[in-house]
Amino acid sequence: MIEPLTIFDGYICLDGKNLSIKDAQLKEPFNFMPINSFEDLNLFFQKFFGNDACPLSIEFEYDRKCYLISQKTYENDIVFSIQNIDNIKNILLAKKEVLFDGLTKCYLKKEIETFIEQALENFVRYKKEKFSVMMFDIDLFKKVNDTYGHLAGDYILKELAALVKKSLRKVDICGRFGGEEFLILLPNTKANGALKLATKLNKLVKEHLFQYDNKTIPIAISLGITSVSYSDSYHSIVQRCDEALYMAKENGRDRVEYQ
Ligand code: GH3
Ligand code: MG
Ligand code: MG
Repeated sequence: MIEPLTIFDGYICLDGKNLSIKDAQLKEPFNFMPINSFEDLNLFFQKFFGNDACPLSIEFEYDRKCYLISQKTYENDIVFSIQNIDNIKNILLAKKEVLFDGLTKCYLKKEIETFIEQALENFVRYKKEKFSVMMFDIDLFKKVNDTYGHLAGDYILKELAALVKKSLRKVDICGRFGGEEFLILLPNTKANGALKLATKLNKLVKEHLFQYDNKTIPIAISLGITSVSYSDSYHSIVQRCDEALYMAKENGRDRVEYQ
């Protein structure tokens, strides 16, 4: 007999060999139908999934509550567990707010710092892959706010972040570093790879149609990039990126510089 996990709101245990019901103890709100046979179980799944086979795991809403039903194998038995995940969902949502900036949905500064420190540790201590870091900043953004209004400025930030994130790989990590300044960690990327990406982003942003309130707002960004070296710290990496970005601004904006 398998011990039910206490976090489960209900469980059904089948004998793996002949698939007869070994035990069925559905609790609220799943006790509306008795499950005394495999056919009953199929009916139960049919009701929830429109399919008489239970997928390995599926999330669903019932009676305004959120549940996860999952199938697990313990020795010869198959266990279906039904777990109320409202709390877990709320925790994850809260965590999301802690990790990401609300407007741009990019990582917060302190999170990106942690990611870079981890990458640095892997590189220096474990001799793992080289990485690059990119910093970019919207050109003359104050003027955008002054000309089109603060809400238009917010829209640009949101749209720009989405546009940039779409061009990144899954492993790249984009953070909002300050007001209109972003920092991207590019794992397993050497200087020339970072330079290619920065040049691509610079062009992409310039050519993108940012439209707010029936007006097209021209936007350009300046980018600074750097690649890690063995003597680096988080601060030296960010400082070099910042210097490269400063050079891009000094050299006329709307361009890429490497330090
Ligand atoms: P530069 O090309 O040198 O970067 O010029 P800039 O005007 O972009 O730089 P500056 O630092 O003078 O101005 C940055 C502006 O960004 C000022 C600030 O109001 C705006 N900003 C920062 N965060 C936000 C935000 O969340 N929403 C909006 N709408 N504006 C923001
Ligand atoms: Mg700016
Ligand atoms: Mg700035």
